[in-house]
Amino acid sequence: MTTPDQIVTRFAPSPTGYLHIGGARTALFNWLFARARGGKFLLRIEDTDRARSTPEATAAILKGMDWLGLDHDGEVISQFERAGRHAEVAHEMLAAGHAYKCFATQDEIQAFREEARAAGRSTLYRSPWRDADPASHPDAPFVIRLKAPREGNTVIRDQVQGDVTIRNDQLDDMICLRSDGSPTYMLAVVVDDHDMGVTHVIRGDDHLNNAARQIMVYSAMGWDEPVWAHIPLIHGPDGKKLSKRHGALGVEEYQAMGYPAAAMRNYLARLGWSHGDDEVFTDAQALEWFDLPGIGKSPARFDFKKLDNISGQHIGMMDSPALLAEVEGFLAATGAAPLQVQKKDVLLAALPCLKGGAKTLPQLIEKARFALHDRPIEPDEKASNALDDVSRGILKELTPHLQNASWDRDTLEGVLNALAAAHDTKFGKLAAPLRAALAGRAVSPSVFDMMLVLGRDETIARLDEASA
Ligand code: GLU
Repeated sequence: MTTPDQIVTRFAPSPTGYLHIGGARTALFNWLFARARGGKFLLRIEDTDRARSTPEATAAILKGMDWLGLDHDGEVISQFERAGRHAEVAHEMLAAGHAYKCFATQDEIQAFREEARAAGRSTLYRSPWRDADPASHPDAPFVIRLKAPREGNTVIRDQVQGDVTIRNDQLDDMICLRSDGSPTYMLAVVVDDHDMGVTHVIRGDDHLNNAARQIMVYSAMGWDEPVWAHIPLIHGPDGKKLSKRHGALGVEEYQAMGYPAAAMRNYLARLGWSHGDDEVFTDAQALEWFDLPGIGKSPARFDFKKLDNISGQHIGMMDSPALLAEVEGFLAATGAAPLQVQKKDVLLAALPCLKGGAKTLPQLIEKARFALHDRPIEPDEKASNALDDVSRGILKELTPHLQNASWDRDTLEGVLNALAAAHDTKFGKLAAPLRAALAGRAVSPSVFDMMLVLGRDETIARLDEASA
């Protein structure tokens, strides 16, 4: 097979629901493959099924791709709008003798099947019109069927599955154009892929059998076949079909759960594809490494634990401005109030200290809560319990030491340890009232992190307030 001058891939979702995790992965693989090779990544909405396609679903797919940063080249192509072209190709095949008009009625087809079943023969429909003389054609509605080869095999040379051989006698003459003149999905896909110049079809292996029929159309039209790569579907951690409980959700739900898009891309790339033992990588690395031989033959298993882990590592890797942008995107996507300018500055300063250990953006925001709150800090019930008279006294005693301390972790540790020793106790005993004063909570980031993020004046102001 010769390498085309330019790689063209496509994502061809049917707009019948949200962009689910499997679709997002297919889109990502196609995007990575094309983008890394200076190729094009096209988007075609397969909206031929008018009853099931909705504009809302198309919008959700576009939004999901936008969040994931999977930009496509050119206009979004509507398959439905190309119906005229599909019909044209069906008629071309007819004129060339690669297709024929079939006048069989539903009842006749039904009767054929019943007879075949009763006789223990294959129920694949064999139309009597396949070799009929056109002079015998009635003036009646007809469909256009492909004159599919009946002998020999069709071999799908698949980059993931290897050579997959289908016996031609196991396929019927598929309908390309219905009696109302509308094209079938199977024809539309081939015509579109050909006209769009698609060189590589990377998609779920639920379409593997379709490839055999589609190859017959390529061959009838004398068109070059694309390179095929059928990716195994995604299963749950238990190896069963992916269910909602397992994570078969729309990508917008992952956005709402607070996974950064970069982490999601990383995780999706690892669902069925691998590069050695690399688990956590950047987009640049994924682009450099992604290839078809790295796609495995067995179904990938979706695992929230792994996603959390990768997400936590991406949060840790991101620089503060990028992380702030993620937080702002997350707040907007979940309908939360945007950050005020001054809070953004606070957060920018706080992120290096806080990002470690947060697996998702809401976890990060929760850790940053103390910094985003304005005084007065209202301690919750547990925190209030830590602010008894004795503790308040100690906090009061602490402030003069803080006035003069240099504001770094070692010095602050020294000051607090010395104070604890003076009270014949351990630093741990001071932690609870300090958390209560600085965060209003019994659980918070480390006392030192909070002091460093808040700075001297704000720290002292909070201590004063809590010990008053
Ligand atoms: N529209 C099909 C789907 O959503 C994809 C067809 C293809 O990629 O060829 O499953």
